[in-house]
Amino acid sequence: MRVGMQMLCWGLLLAPGLLPAVSAVTADGAMWSAAAAESDGYVPLEELRSFYKLLPLSGQQPGVTAAGNGVLSLVFGPDPRDLLLGGLLCRLSHPVRQDAARGVLVSETDAVKLIDPVLRPTYIANRRLVKTVVLDPAHGGHDTGTVTPYAREADVALVVATMLQQELTKRGYHVVLTRTENRYLSDQQRVDTANNALNPLLISLHLNSGRSDVSGAETYTVTPAEPGADALPGNEFDAANVALAAALQSALVRGAGARDGGCRRARYSLLSSLRCPAAMVELGYATHAEEGARLSTDEYQRQLALALADGIERFAAVMNPEQCLRAAEKPAAEPPPAPAKVEPAKPSAPTRKSSRTPTRKTTVKAAPKKPAKAAPKTKPKRSGSSSRKTRR
Ligand SMILES: [Zn+2]
Repeated sequence: MRVGMQMLCWGLLLAPGLLPAVSAVTADGAMWSAAAAESDGYVPLEELRSFYKLLPLSGQQPGVTAAGNGVLSLVFGPDPRDLLLGGLLCRLSHPVRQDAARGVLVSETDAVKLIDPVLRPTYIANRRLVKTVVLDPAHGGHDTGTVTPYAREADVALVVATMLQQELTKRGYHVVLTRTENRYLSDQQRVDTANNALNPLLISLHLNSGRSDVSGAETYTVTPAEPGADALPGNEFDAANVALAAALQSALVRGAGARDGGCRRARYSLLSSLRCPAAMVELGYATHAEEGARLSTDEYQRQLALALADGIERFAAVMNPEQCLRAAEKPAAEPPPAPAKVEPAKPSAPTRKSSRTPTRKTTVKAAPKKPAKAAPKTKPKRSGSSSRKTRR
């Protein structure tokens, strides 16, 4: 059975269970064109469906649009800002629209900076080998974070970060903590720790607060830069950020059994300032009696740490260009497929074409079919150190 390279790596990115075993689904021969979004920045779902070889799904509720292939489904609505991507809740940058002529429309920002990086992480243009995992336990010192009768945010974040450091170190990763004790750190100190590390990724760990009936894990990345708009430093890794968030969130949901609060976007100062792939994980709500109490137990903290370690491994595997190419058994005579025309090389290079340049057609070329073969695990090195977050 032949499986496309991008699908192999996609299977590695999301936790098993959200996606059944990868089958012989490829995007060979298909492409979607950003030219389709030339007039209003929206791409017809039909284009995406065709490109990713998805089929219209029947039996959906009114107002819900879905496409899938038994392996993956894209389910939009009834809230037009929500997408179920391979079973994982993702908040869209822009609500989907409906057009009489073009059908359901998805914003180009969401197509390029959410859907494609999750489905085809090996096409992320600036992916690089992860050499340092920076774990940032939020708050600390006089900044206690959320404190409820059920859980103390700064303390739980530090415990889970320490457990995660131990697990990742066992797996051969080089890990740095922004803080290893109960002390205050500025956002800049946390940013500096990551920005000075070698090929890092950063994960900031928090507990959430809200209404007493709200629960679930949520993973945030910096709001992606819109085509033509000014970009923040953190936008350099828009595509990798969402791939990291999807790997972490699916691991929390499938591995630790957390309720899926979704992959979300925000312009938190910490995430905005980082020059590496980064995500902020809200492990659960300290204000929810049941979840808050569970977050304070050693058993659940360990489950969360193990799940996050699995998510980090999946992300690191698809960020390793060498390993993914090896997994794809690229023919020697053929150059590697052009990576990620989807993702602009620089944040300032928008993919969306002006309606005045209809002849310039940006296409996302599908990968050639490759024999299926499990990708080897990524095994960076190891070490240890600690941090916190800033919320808007
Ligand atoms: Zn917090």
